[in-house]
Amino acid sequence: MSDTPAKINLLGLSPAKMEEFFASIGEKKFRAHQMLKWIHQYGESDFEKMTNMGKALRAKLAEISEVALPEVVYEDFSKDGTRKWVMRMPGGSAVETVYIPEKDRGTLCVSSQIGCALDCSFCSTGKQGFNRDLTVAEIIGQVYVAAMSFHEPGERRERRITNVVMMGMGEPLLNFDNVVDAMHLMMDDNAYGLSKRRVTLSTSGVVPMMDKLGDVIDVSLAVSLHAPTDDLRNVLVPINKKYPLAELIDATNRYLGKLPDRRKATIEYTLIDGVNDSIEQAEALAQLLRNTPCKINLIPFNPFPNSGYKRPSNNRVYKFRDHLISRDYIATIRSTRGDDIDAACGQLVGKVEDRTRRSARYINAVQLDNPQEGNQV
Ligand code: SAH
Ligand code: SF4
Repeated sequence: MSDTPAKINLLGLSPAKMEEFFASIGEKKFRAHQMLKWIHQYGESDFEKMTNMGKALRAKLAEISEVALPEVVYEDFSKDGTRKWVMRMPGGSAVETVYIPEKDRGTLCVSSQIGCALDCSFCSTGKQGFNRDLTVAEIIGQVYVAAMSFHEPGERRERRITNVVMMGMGEPLLNFDNVVDAMHLMMDDNAYGLSKRRVTLSTSGVVPMMDKLGDVIDVSLAVSLHAPTDDLRNVLVPINKKYPLAELIDATNRYLGKLPDRRKATIEYTLIDGVNDSIEQAEALAQLLRNTPCKINLIPFNPFPNSGYKRPSNNRVYKFRDHLISRDYIATIRSTRGDDIDAACGQLVGKVEDRTRRSARYINAVQLDNPQEGNQV
């Protein structure tokens, strides 16, 4: 063990913490803004190239801090334009990040944890168990890597990423502080400058944290519902036993009530054959949500080995959607993108070694589309 204190990784400092950092070394606020721009807009990690910082300051920065980036171990491109990166995080675990280009937007699907503790019965991430929380640097590092892959080093990046969804591995509300800091960076004009409407956090329903979220940030909210009754939801999404549907719906309404604008929640509903996809269940869902401003995004189940569940036929999926539409809901079906590079929902791996055995094991499940508008099949 060396005696030198670990250097601070500036990649993981939120805008507020970057200001605190520069204040702590006797520098003004604008230095923090310059640094955010160098890192997140120009992709610069070498202090010597940050020419608007004085020589003495650059030396000081190099002594106590660094810009340490995630290591990209694999990158893949799909025929449909979807891109996927596997990044290795300290400790050997890996996360995958997926970029989905569409006509009028580009959506990045970002992970918040390695694995997940909540064990939803249809989710391969849940089956993998919980490994650890990602740090702020590891969360925003996924955005950084994707954003920088679209431009030449040193040039200001292009705005290819218009939307971020926290829908990769993990339950973002159980890594609250790090996820909130990372989302502040996504929305900061000196960093990624995304609109708050286009940054979406998806939760399986950690009710107290939903209230806390509404007190500190105003991103868009997606709620993983998947069942219209407590009995069924207790099985599919076990955290429902702690925070049942009525509480979850109330918390969703409270969150929307705190937003400064009129925004709808996205309700995610994974359709599983013979489990939650009947017309009676569509009707129960319509009743359940009648006082919640929302759009419903239907996700046909993506099978993985030994899940015990099946994807419904397209016909059943359409019928479920059409019933919701007949009840005046906006209901869309999420299309599968990037499945030729194992980037579709339920196809992401969680361990680097799996790269070499691509078809052997799919550990992670991830959402690929922007739930704000959803996709018609
Ligand atoms: N933990 C958060 C965010 C990550 S999971 C949450 O649960 O909301 C994001 C989405 O992945 C969830 O809505 C879940 O419906 C979906 N999902 C998980 N496994 C899936 C699978 N096998 N097929 C389709 N969607 C799946
Ligand atoms: Fe965790 Fe979300 Fe998967 Fe449930 S669906 S196990 S909360 S990642």
